[in-house]
Amino acid sequence: MPAANVHVSPETHFEIDPQALIDAHRAERNGGPMVVGYYHSHPDGEPHPSATDQAMASGDGRIWAILGKRGMMLWQDDPLRFHALSYEVVEV
Ligand SMILES: [Zn+2]
Repeated sequence: MPAANVHVSPETHFEIDPQALIDAHRAERNGGPMVVGYYHSHPDGEPHPSATDQAMASGDGRIWAILGKRGMMLWQDDPLRFHALSYEVVEV
């Protein structure tokens, strides 16, 4: 689900609207969709975790989808570092 970037420097950083996160986790606890991860974009860059992304990551094991100027990659936020994940797009 889309959420506002509430960081004071949204051009170079992101911070998911805390209320949106709370709402998503609350909905999950009440039987809604599982919060598997987060997404954001690097409009002028690569779809790899930036140094800032790595510094801000919690290591909670969730999936980060990062959209770059040449596509999207999925990463798992493991405690020590991000791991690239493969994915397949299927029609439903
Ligand atoms: Zn990033």
